[in-house]
Amino acid sequence: MARGGSAAGFVRLRVHAPAKGWLLPLEATPDPAFAGGALGPGVTLELLDDLIRAPCPGEVVAVAGERHAITLDCGNGAQILIHCGIDTVSLKGEPFEPLVAVGDRVETGDPLLRVDLEALVAAGKSAATPIVLVEAGGCSLSLRSDPDGLVEPGAELFELYREGVGGANCDPHVENGPVATREVILPLPHGLHARPCAAIAAEARRWRATVTLRTDGRSAAAGSTVGLLKLGATLGGRVEIEARGEQAEAAVEAIAALIGRGAGDEIVEPRAAPQAPGQPVVLRRADPDGPAEPGLLSGVAAAPGKAIGSAYYVHRARIEVTGNAESPPAEKARLRDALSVLRARLADEDDGAGAAIASAQLAILEDEELVAAAEAKIDAGGSAAGAWQAVMQREAEALRALFDARLAERADDLLDLEQRMLRILLGRESEATAPAGAIVIASDLYPSDLKPLRAAGVAGIATVAGGPTSHLAILAASADIPMAVAFGEPLCGVEEGELVYLDGDAGTLRHAMAEGEAEELREHLVRREASYRAALATAQHEARLASGERIEVFANIGSVADAEEAVRLGAEGSGLVRTEFLFLDRAEPPSEAEQAEIYAAIIESFGDRPVIIRTLDIGADKPAPYLPLAKEDNPALGVRGIRVGLRYPELLAGQMRAILRGAGGRTAHIMAPMVSSAGEFAQLRAMLDRVLAETGHAAPVRLGAMVETPASALIAGTLAREADFLSVGTNDLTQYTLAADRTNSDLARDLDALHPAVTRLVGIAAEGCRAHGRVLGICGGAAGDPLGAAVLVGLGARELSVSAARVPEIKQWLSALTLEQCRAAAEAALAAASAEEARGELGKLLGRTE
Ligand code: PEP
Ligand code: MG
Repeated sequence: MARGGSAAGFVRLRVHAPAKGWLLPLEATPDPAFAGGALGPGVTLELLDDLIRAPCPGEVVAVAGERHAITLDCGNGAQILIHCGIDTVSLKGEPFEPLVAVGDRVETGDPLLRVDLEALVAAGKSAATPIVLVEAGGCSLSLRSDPDGLVEPGAELFELYREGVGGANCDPHVENGPVATREVILPLPHGLHARPCAAIAAEARRWRATVTLRTDGRSAAAGSTVGLLKLGATLGGRVEIEARGEQAEAAVEAIAALIGRGAGDEIVEPRAAPQAPGQPVVLRRADPDGPAEPGLLSGVAAAPGKAIGSAYYVHRARIEVTGNAESPPAEKARLRDALSVLRARLADEDDGAGAAIASAQLAILEDEELVAAAEAKIDAGGSAAGAWQAVMQREAEALRALFDARLAERADDLLDLEQRMLRILLGRESEATAPAGAIVIASDLYPSDLKPLRAAGVAGIATVAGGPTSHLAILAASADIPMAVAFGEPLCGVEEGELVYLDGDAGTLRHAMAEGEAEELREHLVRREASYRAALATAQHEARLASGERIEVFANIGSVADAEEAVRLGAEGSGLVRTEFLFLDRAEPPSEAEQAEIYAAIIESFGDRPVIIRTLDIGADKPAPYLPLAKEDNPALGVRGIRVGLRYPELLAGQMRAILRGAGGRTAHIMAPMVSSAGEFAQLRAMLDRVLAETGHAAPVRLGAMVETPASALIAGTLAREADFLSVGTNDLTQYTLAADRTNSDLARDLDALHPAVTRLVGIAAEGCRAHGRVLGICGGAAGDPLGAAVLVGLGARELSVSAARVPEIKQWLSALTLEQCRAAAEAALAAASAEEARGELGKLLGRTE
């Protein structure tokens, strides 16, 4: 924090939440003086956070003697008081630790005061913290959000306005003109990441208007790339664009149109599948109780593949700036020169994923507000390096403070840019390096470290921190370098130079290996590679068990491209076409013609092979703006799957008509998700009959139900009497049977479809199908698990639909098993006391552990 200097004048000043908490109208403050507005207008925040940050830039003009209140001069004579708790003056400063002194200049988000909330509450005090304009100085205050609800630090609370002050950013025409707003649904597959943010910021700056974007209770000035990034808006998110000023209407229109075009990104057209609803959970997280097996460390899978090699520590010491500054003009020139050097380097990146990530980083560097903030620090006496470091660290901290894992990963990009600039500014250019074939161990690495490590030929990367969708992880995957992250401190127990086995699929690292174990693992890797090649070579063969029974191996797909890839890998049909990609993240449902065209293309890709098209499986947690579905507390247990289709029959009937058109003269296979009663299926059948009667469609149609709930498994016999086929969705069946949310990574370890309760339900479903001569298919993740596949066939499944990549291996695996072995596997799984025990028994029985 810099000392001294009065706060700058402003025309408009945004004031943000200084901490996490429940926002209340000032009148709700449990203190008549504040509630009645005697100290000025504002809001009250019921604190949930022990750190109070600066709500806006300003100068500290008072720190109460009892340390419970701080006043900031924000410029133009306006002063804001943050009064921590009610009647806390009587605590004699006990629970408070001021982090600033009078005269300090602070920026938004800088720490002001630490409070021991427990002590506050233990003393019987309210944590309600009024944030009020105690000295207006001719400014007026306008509340920016509904003062009611949970807010995160940095959420916008109100704005202060002052008329008649000039200056580049203080154009009275801008501030006092008309207001225009518009809401858009983000069609960007990766949400508001750096590139679109930069495009929006550039557009916003073109207009004589002040533009703000809001989403999910957060807001940002549209002219700031990093500010927009901090919104954390994701695909399908609702974003409100608000402009004030002479050209407000035009600005809003232009920005809405830009977003609609993708702001430099591809928009999600029907082909570009969004995240399918709840893919099988693949993350494994570190065991808080320590590793289950000695020498086996658990992290999070970040880039696929397995590797064995010597551990090599890469220490990228962070550069911390010290030293004096020259004159502000000289330091500003140095800053601009270094920015040019770094921009040129990023622009030179021409290597696939590397180029895309470099362009995202470049977009961050284009943020004029970042540069302006650094220049302001230089004006206050800082050096170029010190100013840059302070600004980038503050922004990275603000991203991390949003408690959003994805945004925390973007913070790494800011810190990467921070360090790269410092290396240029301080002449300390050095690259991460490691010997060829090494498994790199690091506390954390930045995206720019990957290139030199790749050039050095490292075999794998394991990090203490980091996230699975960070830019570093994306780069590692595209460079074919297995990587796992978030091992935590236990990773530091690995000795430099010892042989380690990194599994980038499971997110584990094995070290302290016994004599011969490394050699075995090395051989295992060689065998796996050879086995995959062999599986690929026979992938087009018809799938049969070694004892001759025909088992169809299908693929689960979500687009025409997926269909083509599945056929290339030997899929004998599709047991599950997830059609959600056509329905989500758009303002209106797809027309029947649009759907029919895509279904036809998918069916065409498979030639004569069957293609089972699942009707839309959306629900309360999936954005479909044209469906007025209420937000639900338990979306997985709410209106989803067939429940949606039956509530919006025109949507479902339209999809049925489109599927029939897409199938043309071929047999159409239609399957409904989440069926849980015979009544639902009867309604579905009646709807299909109506559609057939209306359209006069004459080609054969088969109508099936998914078994995804314990209810449907238990009444499978009843369903099978009415349905032409059943298909078990083991992903949902497992989550509903075990009452474990499949999207909760904390529960990933428990979500095993080989839990005997799930196996028994599949057994009941198989029995129901047998009784009515129906084929039982499986289209959940268990079908692609070799042990699961053997059990499912043993229970009676004759069609397994797996992810396209698994098709060759599952076909090859089945060709080595007899029906007798599969039945024995099913028996063993049914008899096991737990999924773990089942896996142990199956491993012994089938001679395979994974
Ligand atoms: C399942 O639940 O197993 C399934 C295949 O459906 P989805 O994963 O699409 O929910
Ligand atoms: Mg499902």
